[in-house]
Amino acid sequence: MVQPQQKLPIVPQPTYFAVGPQPHEVTCPYCKATAKTVMQRPILRCFSRRHYCSECGEYLGTYRRPQL
Ligand SMILES: [Zn+2]
Repeated sequence: MVQPQQKLPIVPQPTYFAVGPQPHEVTCPYCKATAKTVMQRPILRCFSRRHYCSECGEYLGTYRRPQL
């Protein structure tokens, strides 16, 4: 007998890309647009910056400043 294969739902995953703290051009997995990311306003003492799609506003990934 052949075991029925479980079908996994395809969920767009956040893209954790290795980019700097500047806006970066990415292909958004949500709206499929090639858009530049926008970031939240940097907060004092905050070492990470969140990138959002400039087209649909979905959260795409976080840039984390390496702490020495
Ligand atoms: Zn998007």
